Amino acid sequence: MLNVTPSAFPASGSQQRAAAGGRSKVPLKPGRSLMDWIRLTKSGKDLTGLKGRLIEVTEDELSKHNKKEDCWICIRGFVYNVTPYMEYHPGGEDELMKAAGTDGTDLFDQVHRWVNYESMLKECLVGRMAVKPIAALKGVLPEKRVLASSAKDLSPSYDWFQTDSLITIVIYTKQKDMNADLVIVDCQDKQLRGEIIMDDHSYLVEVDLDHAVSEDVAVNIAEKVGKVEIILNKKDNIHWKMLGQPCEGHNTFIKRTDRGLFYRKCKLVSKTEVTHDTKLFCLMLPKGTHLRVPTGQHIYLKHIIAGTEVVKPYTPVLPFLPLDFQEPPCHDGVHLYLMIKIYSHGLFTQALDHLQIGDCISVSNPEGNFKKSQVQTSEDLLLLAGGTGFTPMVKLLNFALTEVSCLRTVKLIFFNKTEDDILWRNQLEQLALKDERFEVQFILSQPSKDWVGKQGKISPSLLSEFVKRSRRDSKVLICICGPTPFTEQGVQYLKDLGYSQEEIHAFTA
Ligand code: FAD
Ligand code: NAP
Repeated sequence: MLNVTPSAFPASGSQQRAAAGGRSKVPLKPGRSLMDWIRLTKSGKDLTGLKGRLIEVTEDELSKHNKKEDCWICIRGFVYNVTPYMEYHPGGEDELMKAAGTDGTDLFDQVHRWVNYESMLKECLVGRMAVKPIAALKGVLPEKRVLASSAKDLSPSYDWFQTDSLITIVIYTKQKDMNADLVIVDCQDKQLRGEIIMDDHSYLVEVDLDHAVSEDVAVNIAEKVGKVEIILNKKDNIHWKMLGQPCEGHNTFIKRTDRGLFYRKCKLVSKTEVTHDTKLFCLMLPKGTHLRVPTGQHIYLKHIIAGTEVVKPYTPVLPFLPLDFQEPPCHDGVHLYLMIKIYSHGLFTQALDHLQIGDCISVSNPEGNFKKSQVQTSEDLLLLAGGTGFTPMVKLLNFALTEVSCLRTVKLIFFNKTEDDILWRNQLEQLALKDERFEVQFILSQPSKDWVGKQGKISPSLLSEFVKRSRRDSKVLICICGPTPFTEQGVQYLKDLGYSQEEIHAFTA
């Protein structure tokens, strides 16, 4: 499974070549794939040059290690010797060198906060940063702990009360339009974690509960006043003297990017074929979890491969395209559907494909910068998808057709290599028949000679043919998702055609 041929690596358009977020990945040398790195870390080779010793690193010492052949980087207080990793870094050596000899935490968070560096770089750990004397720390407490007074006023608060059988935790968010997508609760064993998402901030209630509760958790939201109730069932009808012991991040209101990604284990309940290489995975959330993935957002799956934690993003879809425009079954709050292409040499997707029904995999909280409000005022919605770049379009399509009253047209322009690669072709064609606002256009880059439809790759001429406003002045939103070069080129062509930045949303990580 993991025996990949280095010579062809990375395949063109592969994740190893094309980074998300607009950064271009660089071609890695043969033998420098993620799997090769994992192998090197398991080889027993001394990757720090310190023969297994961990040291305390001063700022002065850190700054001396700023060359490719001797490069240390600090991430969240831990220092790594990244010289052995240079050639394996998908973003290239120059990207890594930007943080050489310094604290690279901010840079890392901007680019790939979700990458599990602790696991990937554990053999490169040099040690911790030395703690500065208290006097020197005055006034430089980490920003996330110090709230400006305006932020303090906006900061949510919580309270709790009990009856004989229930514990209710009430969170006053002080924000109108609270909704179920913004509340993520996990209650397993005696650990309660409730996170409220408020724009780019997050409020957390996290306690080790005083007594046991049952697995059923209810969440009530008073949308207008921004009040969230988390209701727990006591296992024993005893009076609690306290809610429990606060955990580290309890009662903090900080930037979302400063909060580590939280994962819970989900069970694989089914795996069904979509095409010859793409499957629909249905995962079941644990009983004590309340989690909804908002339209346009993705989650991260984490899995241990050859002893190393590997993390990859995926965008949940619906179990099928609802033709009757009723609430789709995935809104049962329990199941999560992922449409995943299995690459024959893919590291993560091969491991996913080998999961058995009943096996568990870790699923993160949702992330992503798409806001439903971007669609709510659109009259024309144009969706440009390449391959599995179709996944964010699924919920978006459903949301637009069911909830956006001013919408006049929705057009999906779906690029694939061959006919066999088209995801949910039947369902899309049925939807087009059923709803006159919806139109789908399939474009193949490697069609068979029998294909009578459109062919080609994303290009200015194809886009000018299909991307049009229904009226001269209609409000348009164009969403694009696919292999990174596809997305990048598409955005550029759209701009060249006169569409503004505000009219384009590109899905990236
Ligand atoms: P990789 O190991 O990264 O390989 C990918 C490609 O490289 C394949 O073509 C593989 O055959 C080739 N390759 C790998 N090793 C070699 C080698 N040594 N020699 C030759 N070729 C090689 N994907 C989905 O399917 N569904 C989604 O919903 C989805 N959502 C996403 C959301 C976001 C925000 C982003 C950024 C990506 C999303 N992806 C999605 C892509 C996903 O995250 C993974 O990148 C993808 O599943 C590939 O993972 P992998 O580890 O199996 O492949
Ligand atoms: P694919 O089948 O390899 O390609 C789909 C279509 O895009 C094909 O017509 C292909 O044509 C074309 N294409 C590929 N590379 C191109 C390029 N450089 N320039 C122009 N056209 C190109 O795609 P896939 O394997 O399903 O991959 C889907 C991609 O979408 C992955 O990279 C994945 O990470 C990304 N994705 C992102 C998100 C997100 O939210 N950010 C969500 C889901 C998926 P040819 O190959 O014939 O050129």
